[in-house]
Amino acid sequence: MPVKAIINIPNNKNMQHKSISIAAHHLTNELTFLQKLAMSLVSLGLLLMMVYWFQFKTDNASTWLWSSLSLLSIGSLWYSYELYKNTHPGIKNNGVWHAALTNRGAIAWVLAVFLTGFYVLLYWYPQYLGQAGEGEANKGLIGLFDPLSMFLKGKPASQWFVYGALYTLTIMLMGIKFIYKYRHNKYQVYRTISIIFFQTAIAFILPEIMQSLNKPYFDFKNIWPLNYYFFFDWNIDGMLAAGTLGYFMLFWGIISFLVFTPVLTYFFGKRWYCSWVCGCGGLAETAGDPFRQLSDKSLKAWKIERWVIHSVLAFAVIMTVAVLVARFTGIRNIFLIDSGTLSGWYGFIIGAAFSGVVGVGFYPIMGSRVWCRFGCPMAAYLGILQRFTIKLPWKKEATRMSKFRITTNGGQCISCGNCSTYCEMGIDVKAYAQKGDDIVRASCVGCGICSAVCPRGVLRLENL
Ligand code: SF4
Ligand code: SF4
Repeated sequence: MPVKAIINIPNNKNMQHKSISIAAHHLTNELTFLQKLAMSLVSLGLLLMMVYWFQFKTDNASTWLWSSLSLLSIGSLWYSYELYKNTHPGIKNNGVWHAALTNRGAIAWVLAVFLTGFYVLLYWYPQYLGQAGEGEANKGLIGLFDPLSMFLKGKPASQWFVYGALYTLTIMLMGIKFIYKYRHNKYQVYRTISIIFFQTAIAFILPEIMQSLNKPYFDFKNIWPLNYYFFFDWNIDGMLAAGTLGYFMLFWGIISFLVFTPVLTYFFGKRWYCSWVCGCGGLAETAGDPFRQLSDKSLKAWKIERWVIHSVLAFAVIMTVAVLVARFTGIRNIFLIDSGTLSGWYGFIIGAAFSGVVGVGFYPIMGSRVWCRFGCPMAAYLGILQRFTIKLPWKKEATRMSKFRITTNGGQCISCGNCSTYCEMGIDVKAYAQKGDDIVRASCVGCGICSAVCPRGVLRLENL
């Protein structure tokens, strides 16, 4: 029988304190019997995947795939239900600094090394995942996903198909867990449904179906400069060869960063993209939720962040200008380096190593938004729009380029520090709240977690 503890915690809704009883396992991270059963299903699902990956089994992929995915899905959803079913609405991060997974312990390091290694195989050694050579059939993990790929687009899987499928499944399962955890907070529920929709329908299923119709691969929500290859010759040629739809894709890609991005950021801040639409942000918000407290809040980290992220944006712009100049004039070394070499470096350093290997592999060590905070050129572009002001000739005062800000009711702040602790972008929210200042920071992705975990209702996300 679980031990019960009586504690006083503030109630988010009406600001009155009330006594509630909390099962002791919520304070100690001890698993209940049913949680252990649910985790056993997850482990079995992973085991089936491994058996196929290491080619102890090579036939009947369909049965193995669906068995594995079903066990993984049922187990993780059941575990989420058991984890949060008895919790009170509000802060649910008990024991976060005492668990090896969430406090850079042994489990975190094992997971970080596994994820980093998986990304290295994915980008540079897909043959170890079972990617077929010329004229061969897929094997291993990629062969396991052949039935799903055949169903969606009538072709065998590739390493990118497997990655997309696992990425989408993770966002769905962890997204449902996240929704259940923050079910008292409408903002968190709606934006997580949005993230799941954009990843599943727009980033995964639609491009696969388009490929089955012999149309170019195109993710309508992946905007330049995040989509760094948008202006590469092969991509433009592919779109131009696809007729009317291809021209529309080209048009869509250009107006997305020239018009949609500034207009939507003016009204809603960068959150419309980073916390409601983007796949990288989607994974960080869902699968990365247990690690958000690991972000570095120091001034030094803030300085490094500004230098690095704006350097990546400059690199993306220079590389893209070089590629376009080469396309239209034939001059390939406008910046003294061949445009092909420049784009190759960008793809290797930023597109693969930073966004994938470091961006996700380091979740358990550096927090969930390493890529968004330090490396994403789209986040840098959105941050400039969100943070900065312009001087319009007909106005006396400078005008901000975005209406978004987090307002603070400083008089209510009890300096508990929850907001700063759980800000995944490393913003010291408490310092603003104590002074009652509005929070206008280029890096704020408007996830709203600072507000969701504040026991005093001090923080409000607003478009003023
Ligand atoms: S300040 Fe709040 S809304 Fe902004 S990134 Fe941090 S936790 Fe999210
Ligand atoms: S604003 Fe931050 S420090 Fe102040 S009460 Fe809310 S969570 Fe605690």
